[in-house]
Amino acid sequence: MKTLGSYVGGRWVEGSGEGETLVNPATEEPLARASTEGLDRAKALAYARDVGGPALRALTFEQRGALLKAMCDALVAHRDELLDLAVANGGNTRSDAKFDVDGATFTLSTYAEIGRSLGARKVLADGEGVTLGRSPRFHGQHLAVPRHGVAIHINAFNFPAWGLAEKAACALLAGMPVVSKPASSSALVAHRIMQILVDGKVLPEGALSLLVGSVGDLLHHVGPQDVVAFTGSSQTGIKIRSLPQVIGNSVRVNVEADSLNAAVLGPDVEPGSETYELFLKDVLRDMTQKAGQKCTAIRRVLAPAGAADRVRDDLADRLRAVVVGNPAHEGVRMGPVATAQQHRDVRDGIDLLARDGRLVFGVSDLKPVGVPDGKGFFVGPVLIEVEPGASAPNVHGHEVFGPASTIVPYDGTAGDAAALVSRGNGGLVSSVYSDDADFTGDVVLGLAPFHGRVFLGSAKIAEMSPGPGTVLPHLVHGGPGRAGGGEELGGLRGLAFYMQRVALEGSRPVIEKIVS
Ligand code: NAP
Repeated sequence: MKTLGSYVGGRWVEGSGEGETLVNPATEEPLARASTEGLDRAKALAYARDVGGPALRALTFEQRGALLKAMCDALVAHRDELLDLAVANGGNTRSDAKFDVDGATFTLSTYAEIGRSLGARKVLADGEGVTLGRSPRFHGQHLAVPRHGVAIHINAFNFPAWGLAEKAACALLAGMPVVSKPASSSALVAHRIMQILVDGKVLPEGALSLLVGSVGDLLHHVGPQDVVAFTGSSQTGIKIRSLPQVIGNSVRVNVEADSLNAAVLGPDVEPGSETYELFLKDVLRDMTQKAGQKCTAIRRVLAPAGAADRVRDDLADRLRAVVVGNPAHEGVRMGPVATAQQHRDVRDGIDLLARDGRLVFGVSDLKPVGVPDGKGFFVGPVLIEVEPGASAPNVHGHEVFGPASTIVPYDGTAGDAAALVSRGNGGLVSSVYSDDADFTGDVVLGLAPFHGRVFLGSAKIAEMSPGPGTVLPHLVHGGPGRAGGGEELGGLRGLAFYMQRVALEGSRPVIEKIVS
């Protein structure tokens, strides 16, 4: 079986021992193995800091942006091959795979453009300068400079291409080298991306390293200039934040974790209208795209009590048409979940949600298309409904990372909708579908303190909208509380995590010379 190496210290190395076996989640056929056992992770981090860091800091933003453009071009040139790997190792349909791979290249090209617009400078002025004394000669100005450490990126299994690219784009443009660790189970895509970049000599030595397999003691070697950006479960996020080396060195940690994203249907929205159709389309897409394994997927569907039956029936009708099976087969709309563990977790989670209400759509004798009997980690789409006013602690407290959503009736007021959604305890993105600007405004302001992003679905944007489940590089991705308290992307904002903000206080002409 193929063994996946890690690219650290400027070369490919293989770990010893058995490591992890990567499989095709539709057939359970083994595809590759990966081990990081015996790898010197301290040395890998030091190489990135000592070789990659100075090389990146010597470049201007424009030049770093050009590197991102070159990364993007290299991946676009290998797009079909990457899509095939995502289908085989991620359980992705081709459309799911495009969402990941094209999302990666779009994010890289967006940050390449930001780099170009920043021009031939190596540091960033942060806001306007201020006069500090009686005369304008005594001046203050905030400045952002790249940190001198390494950016450690730990990613979840669901977006092996986008996860690597979105984090790397911000760090590399800011001037920090990266050690990226994809989730082991779906690492084939990230591994191939690294091969493409290494073979094409796209990046300076040490700018990007890839650790394929278990994280091991990587985080035991972090220093005060390093940063850690993590995407995954909140339990792992807590473990990372609690590490003595992280606490002792005041290492910056960004966590992107779970989220009980909600979609609120406004009371003004008539069934059959453009806004209603947009709402159904977005819920359906989020339930089935990547088999619901999207951190931004809609988990709670809030409908005015009088409209909940109609919403349930319309969603059930559409879910009935979803063909589940081996994504390599023509016509399959939804593949399996990613791993045997995911399979167990999702099924247990659905049982937990069902305790709060009743299952109104589910396939009891699922026969996935194009799959050997009894094989594959398949879960059919599941819709649950709770009674109006039900306390539903599991629905508002437990994220099922799979193709399951719950209909939650509300009393039709913005206040009730916002109160129910905020029971999710902090989320990445929630949405409101309405053509009534007053209702929308009230819901948005009710949701805003609890979210990183709020999506406003209406007839005006229906044609252009990719839906709440798509993370756009121009807007921040992250959220308070359960969502991890982190923030990524957001255009130029995404660089701040990788840069040190320093206040300069002194003579205005000298400061202006430094900052320009
Ligand atoms: P996970 O078990 O926390 O794994 C995520 C990553 O952390 C993997 O690369 C994993 O490596 C690594 N890891 C495992 N133990 C670690 C440790 N002790 N220290 C450092 N890293 C460690 O999460 P998952 O179950 O794979 O992912 C699903 C979860 O991610 C869901 O709950 C979902 O909500 C969340 N998610 C959030 C976002 C977001 O943007 N907010 C996006 C996607 C997913 P191995 O694979 O080698 O174990």
